[in-house]
Amino acid sequence: MFDSLRARLARRWRARSMTRRLRELDRLDRSHGLGVPTGRPAAQKKPRRQSNGTLPGLLVAGIIVAGVVAFSPGDTTGSLRSLIGWGPERLGAPPQVAHGEGTFTFMQTQRNSREPVSYDPCKRIEYVINPEGGPDNYRELVDTAVRHTSEATGFRFEFQGTSDRRDWEIGGIRGRNDPVLVGWATAEEYDRLSGDVAGVGGSLAVRDGTTTTLHYTTGRVVLDVDAFEDLDTMREGALLGQAIVDHEFAHLVGLDHVQDARELMNAENLGVTTYGPGDREGLAALGGVPCT
Ligand SMILES: [Zn+2]
Repeated sequence: MFDSLRARLARRWRARSMTRRLRELDRLDRSHGLGVPTGRPAAQKKPRRQSNGTLPGLLVAGIIVAGVVAFSPGDTTGSLRSLIGWGPERLGAPPQVAHGEGTFTFMQTQRNSREPVSYDPCKRIEYVINPEGGPDNYRELVDTAVRHTSEATGFRFEFQGTSDRRDWEIGGIRGRNDPVLVGWATAEEYDRLSGDVAGVGGSLAVRDGTTTTLHYTTGRVVLDVDAFEDLDTMREGALLGQAIVDHEFAHLVGLDHVQDARELMNAENLGVTTYGPGDREGLAALGGVPCT
């Protein structure tokens, strides 16, 4: 069966509007920093690239917050164990990756250092999903992103079930040891999704009482309800949807945007749907940090 012309045109229009939207996402959204909620930064024009792939521009999610620094006394057991030689066990190892073949950058680095802020590789990263507003295959999307992230970092994740939590704002996280919350929201509910932003991902950085080292303990991946509904109508929608969730999970564990067009973390991604060489190197570095 051929689609009617009208349907085809409608779909093409949607794809084009999606492409335009995708390109605009990260241009609007460069407010990094330490999680202090900021107003929308002035739009910063970046040179447009020509798309030459068959895919429409990837809906690259705008990412916002790397983390919020929270001070917490105590929690020194792990550090003490390390000092006296009872280092905690790493749960997994990052894969061997090629070095220097791509581009990556971290959301945050340790003070006076190039070492990234990351999760503790000796602890499982627990997560819950709020499926409300998400696509039917929400579980597959999220679990696939978890698998990709886990393979690329060595981190172990643990699904803790579905949840009706909707406290999306990273800057407002109260339970620093609560599971990561993954879900779908509209811009009306969560204004960081307004405009052309398809998703937001980030984590909360905390430090213990004895060192200046920061590590992530929990975070958020918030995906845009409308964007995923639009993807449902596109031929490449499944591929793009997965790429978006993968992209957001890379932010979650600490990877930031790059200009390099070969990377999934490219801020104006035009068709890359899997990790590039820099993404892989950066994710392996994030998984290779010492345990806390
Ligand atoms: Zn992003």
